Amino acid sequence: MPATTDRRPDTIAATLRAAAKRLNASDTPELDAEVLLAHVLGKPRSHLHAWPEKTLTAEQRAGFEALLARRASGHPVAHLTGRREFWSLELAVTAHTLIPRPDTEQLVERALRVLDAGRPLRVLDAGTGSGAIALALARERAHWKILANDRSPDCLDVARDNARRLRLCNVSFFAGHWCDAVADDSLDALVSNPPYIAERDPHLDQGDVRFEPRTALISGPDGLDDLRCLTAAAPRVLRPAGILLLEHGFDQAEAVARLLKEQGFLDIRQHRDLAGHIRISEGRKPG
Ligand code: GLN
Repeated sequence: MPATTDRRPDTIAATLRAAAKRLNASDTPELDAEVLLAHVLGKPRSHLHAWPEKTLTAEQRAGFEALLARRASGHPVAHLTGRREFWSLELAVTAHTLIPRPDTEQLVERALRVLDAGRPLRVLDAGTGSGAIALALARERAHWKILANDRSPDCLDVARDNARRLRLCNVSFFAGHWCDAVADDSLDALVSNPPYIAERDPHLDQGDVRFEPRTALISGPDGLDDLRCLTAAAPRVLRPAGILLLEHGFDQAEAVARLLKEQGFLDIRQHRDLAGHIRISEGRKPG
């Protein structure tokens, strides 16, 4: 009698089961295993569910094993595949860029809700990294002019490649640190997910963030250095009634509201993430 298909160790289903067990240190072992196997097979994840009894070739098994070993030793899945989905856009990411997070999709959602879709706005994504925020806005609002900057030339290369591959033409990238190279009164909105982790935060030594660029994560002793810099510079670069929208840490809501107030912003609003923490703050420059 031939072995029943689900007992064979080299089927897609059996491979995924064994892999998920091995990735028990991850918060999402099943998902990680699926994303890595789909990547090796060059297929979407749905293929794995459609063909669970399909067997893998020796080459596919070896390729998967290599990725699994690196994931088991802590490397982020996005670094192993070189890709991360954000706002339904497949973005290339590298070790130079922050790995885009679902939390930041809420910042995009808020920007789309608060900014006037009927007008041709100029919006800057400051510190764009892989281009995530800028490209999501560019996709949703083809008639807006999206600007995106970063101080890291490596990030700008990744972001520009993403824009090209996704054929998003209404976004321009330029080198610069926050608002340094931005003209006075030139923006309808400034959106940013800056670094905001305190330099001694113990989370920096745990999980995927260990492999991400420190410059994209850490912002001084209390994590607020870049948020201070952005709130201080925004009134100069925003047009009257322009909007500043910022992502920040779960315990920084009060501090960011204070910074916005100190800089004269009005209509200060704050928004919770899916876990119930206030992670987005916005304000309007007097108009
Ligand atoms: N939200 C990320 C984290 O806590 C940090 C991203 C950032 O600093 N902008 O891992």
